[in-house]
Amino acid sequence: MSQQLAIDSFAFARNGRVLEGTLAVSDLERLHDLLAEVEGEVRFRVQGVKGEQGQAQLRLTASATLPLACQRCLGAIDFAVEVDSLLELVPEGAEMSQDELEDDSKDFLPVAGELDVAELVEDEVLLALPVAPRHEKCSLPGATEAGERISPFAVLAGLKGKPN
Ligand SMILES: [Zn+2]
Repeated sequence: MSQQLAIDSFAFARNGRVLEGTLAVSDLERLHDLLAEVEGEVRFRVQGVKGEQGQAQLRLTASATLPLACQRCLGAIDFAVEVDSLLELVPEGAEMSQDELEDDSKDFLPVAGELDVAELVEDEVLLALPVAPRHEKCSLPGATEAGERISPFAVLAGLKGKPN
């Protein structure tokens, strides 16, 4: 199981505490499907911050180089992930105003109090990854040379029974 890194989020923010460390990628299970190989680690730092109006906020930074699986050939693409997020803590279930929801300068993080930092880091890393990573140049596993590909028009023509 992954290590538990639970913090009392509001007190952590209020007291300006700092937690930093590394997480093994092997423990971040939601990343595994996206990776060509499960290896490496994620460095992270969480700092409690008091907002201008006294809001409880966390600044989360994290970095890692992850071997993402290419969507075409499934080979590894080394991708440098950098996370730098300002998260404002809000009590779980709290109503939010339209202005707050439209504020792009920060994200809101509903928490019940205790917060699992490992899970938060995993969430933020997932958000920072490209949706469909691909090598600039690569081919499908087992694909033939580009020149041998069957053109879709040839297939269409074949279906209609009218070659050419
Ligand atoms: Zn590829």
